[in-house]
Amino acid sequence: MTDEGCLRIPVVWSADCLRHEPAGEVWLGGREPSTEVPERASVILRSLQSAGAPILAPDAHDEAALLAVHRPELVRHLATIWSDWQAGGYLSDYGRDRVVPYVFPTSAMLAGLPVRPPAATHGRVGMFCYDTMTLVGPGSWEAVCAAADSASTAARLVAAGQRAVYALCRPPGHHAGPASYGGSCYLNNAAIAAQALRQAGAARVAVVDIDAHHGNGTQAIFYGRADVFYGSVHVDPGAGWFPHYMGFADERGMGAGQGANRNLPLAPGSSDAPWLAAVSELCAEVRAHRADAIVLSLGVDAAATDPESPLLVTAEGYRAAGELIGQLGPVVVVQEGGYDLASLGEYVLAALTGIDAGRGYREG
Ligand SMILES: [Zn+2]
Repeated sequence: MTDEGCLRIPVVWSADCLRHEPAGEVWLGGREPSTEVPERASVILRSLQSAGAPILAPDAHDEAALLAVHRPELVRHLATIWSDWQAGGYLSDYGRDRVVPYVFPTSAMLAGLPVRPPAATHGRVGMFCYDTMTLVGPGSWEAVCAAADSASTAARLVAAGQRAVYALCRPPGHHAGPASYGGSCYLNNAAIAAQALRQAGAARVAVVDIDAHHGNGTQAIFYGRADVFYGSVHVDPGAGWFPHYMGFADERGMGAGQGANRNLPLAPGSSDAPWLAAVSELCAEVRAHRADAIVLSLGVDAAATDPESPLLVTAEGYRAAGELIGQLGPVVVVQEGGYDLASLGEYVLAALTGIDAGRGYREG
């Protein structure tokens, strides 16, 4: 809490983010209840409202904001796949009530051949969606756009002089790459915000990702660029955790982006001390990068109470991380993961309270 007892960081929120109902995820071949549920956003909103945060509606997006970080084929796929799925009879004839891929054009399958866009709708899904847990249904695209709009709007407010703005994005975004989606993410809200900050005049931007999982999508989007630093602290994929194939310490960027990517994987069971030491190390890298503005990918699934990761960070740890990050400069905070409905609101509020305390700045 600030001196006045209320959180002054504006919250950008659209109720359209509730329209995405994954209705489960296919995990190891079986349909399981979804953890990325609309109620996540509702509990975060209630927590921030009760802390007195001002709530703002996002502006409608400009498609150029999406296309600045994503391939047009991905955007078109996400915008049209549900209507194509219905038109193809997958729901009416086969009872398949959500879009899920079943064949994937992996590099091993193609053996060097290019990907040819498949004729069948059900064949096309795996060209973009790299897992079976990221389902699309009615309302998904509207929610995905509302989340992207929220991130864009928060970036615009920060570019206009706000020191910190929080975008309550749902679905999350950091696992979505230039032409891929997965990990319950569809479009990359943090990357959209970072690119918007660049286009609004920030010469250098840093994305700091403290979600429990590596933000493979954000890394992929900026991997060859020097102007957007990406740093992440997350549970070690080498210890068996999602996204399994990316997020290792030796991934440091390529070409012009060499050195502008930093991964700090942590052992399962890590609690506040090692986690905060890693966050602090990322903050030092952000300073060395001389970033004019920060995007914080705020996943709170590193919480000790969270069912989706083995990290054991406390709410006080998140508050302390927020304080460190708030000292770096103007911050766009983008909601990523966090799945324990009982503690989610408390953890997000703790992080934002820390940012509010750390930014060393008071309006008015
Ligand atoms: Zn996560």
